[in-house]
Amino acid sequence: MKKHNFSAGPCILPEEVLQKASEAVINFNNNDLSLIEISHRSAPFVEVIENARNLALEHLNLQDKGYSALFLQGGASMQFLMVAYNLLNKKAAYLNTGTWSSKAIKEAKLFGDLVEVASSKDKDFSYIPKNYEIPADADYFHCTSNNTIYGTQMMSFPETSVPMVCDMSSDIFSKRIDFSKFDLIYAGAQKNMGPAGTTLVVVKDEILGKVQRQIPSMLNYQVHIEKDSMFNTPPVFPVYVSMLTLQWLKDLGGIEFIEKVNNQKAELLYTEIDRNPLFKGFAAKEDRSVMNATFNLVDKALETKFDAMWKEARINGLHGHRSVGGYRASMYNALPLYSVQALVDVMQELERTS
Ligand SMILES: *Cc1c(COP(=O)(O)O)cnc(C)c1O
Repeated sequence: MKKHNFSAGPCILPEEVLQKASEAVINFNNNDLSLIEISHRSAPFVEVIENARNLALEHLNLQDKGYSALFLQGGASMQFLMVAYNLLNKKAAYLNTGTWSSKAIKEAKLFGDLVEVASSKDKDFSYIPKNYEIPADADYFHCTSNNTIYGTQMMSFPETSVPMVCDMSSDIFSKRIDFSKFDLIYAGAQKNMGPAGTTLVVVKDEILGKVQRQIPSMLNYQVHIEKDSMFNTPPVFPVYVSMLTLQWLKDLGGIEFIEKVNNQKAELLYTEIDRNPLFKGFAAKEDRSVMNATFNLVDKALETKFDAMWKEARINGLHGHRSVGGYRASMYNALPLYSVQALVDVMQELERTS
């Protein structure tokens, strides 16, 4: 039986998706050829990428609303600079909620003035700042919807007249949001959609073409849109697996369904973190993430014992990010409720035996 996989990324994918993906590597569509040895321009693959792009827009409820979906390379980290390259004329506004936001800010500074509207660095990024002002003359506002490392999540988004850009790498397709509030959304595949190697970008066409600078083709959203996300060879395997995951989600009942399951999982784990005197949650309660729960042992001396126990229970990937330590349970879409129960059982066992 498979291990309970709480890895933060790359992370768990649905069992049936892995099954289908592995079959396609040997024999794709009963064509006696592998998915990864056929032309990306061949009809079967063109159908895959079109399907994937359509499914992404469908899940986000952004079909026929002037948005394009692209599968690009370079990870979410490439989007830190690509966003600024394509959108930043003079000044951009950023909300700093952690490591990923900080990295996005660092890249954007290369292209223009940057206003950090608020930061939660004063408390180790354990909360989401509220009540900040976004300058009306900013070219865009950038935020990170879910802070994978710290386990905080934006439960609402500011109202603003400037275009909104969001790094949704670790919570896209996990809960209902009015996605039409955003002008550009990006997400590395490896948190809730597929293997590493592709990044979903959903962009409102009308915000493009407004900067003065020349943009290299590979970094130009308009070039990728014109070429239907096939300007160069796309990462065929990650795109295929992403398509399978998006189809899996649709068959389950879409975001509306998975949101309920995700809430159940988070409720189960946070209830135990709050109840069990051996543990302490890291993030501010009102901001804690449904996707990544961060917590610590009150008594560090119990670490060796706890680590041995969860590994014995066939749990994987529970260590916190190397920059913060402690524990982090990532509960992405594909993680079943029984895996969270397995973790809660270990936490209770530790309490009984300590
Ligand atoms: C993982 C992650 C990234 C970095 O993604 P790469 O694809 O490795 O560049 C950026 N932002 C968030 C919110 C993430 O969780």
